[in-house]
Amino acid sequence: MTPEKIADFKKKLEEEKKVVEGQLGSMGAKDGAGEWTAGPGAIDEGATEPDELADRMEQQEENADEIAALAPRLKDINDALEKIEEGIYGACEVSGEPIEEERLEANPAARTCTKHL
Ligand SMILES: [Zn+2]
Repeated sequence: MTPEKIADFKKKLEEEKKVVEGQLGSMGAKDGAGEWTAGPGAIDEGATEPDELADRMEQQEENADEIAALAPRLKDINDALEKIEEGIYGACEVSGEPIEEERLEANPAARTCTKHL
């Protein structure tokens, strides 16, 4: 893969990272271990009515689901960016073969080639 191509994927990864981190930041917070956990969302602090509390809990559950879906995506992106730094970007994690460029176009954070999905 050419350095220009890698720079292109890096740009895409950094942009997606910003988006995913923004989404995660609006729904939760990073704990001390760097894991994302759901926060109470946009609902006002200090809710005391039972139905308000129920809403908050519901919101938090929804956030937790979203975070569970987004956090692994962020990890894929971060790992891909690390590989770019290490100069090993674009190699299949199973076979070490180059990942198809079309596959990386569709998902620059792909870990494996199409043979090892
Ligand atoms: Zn492979």
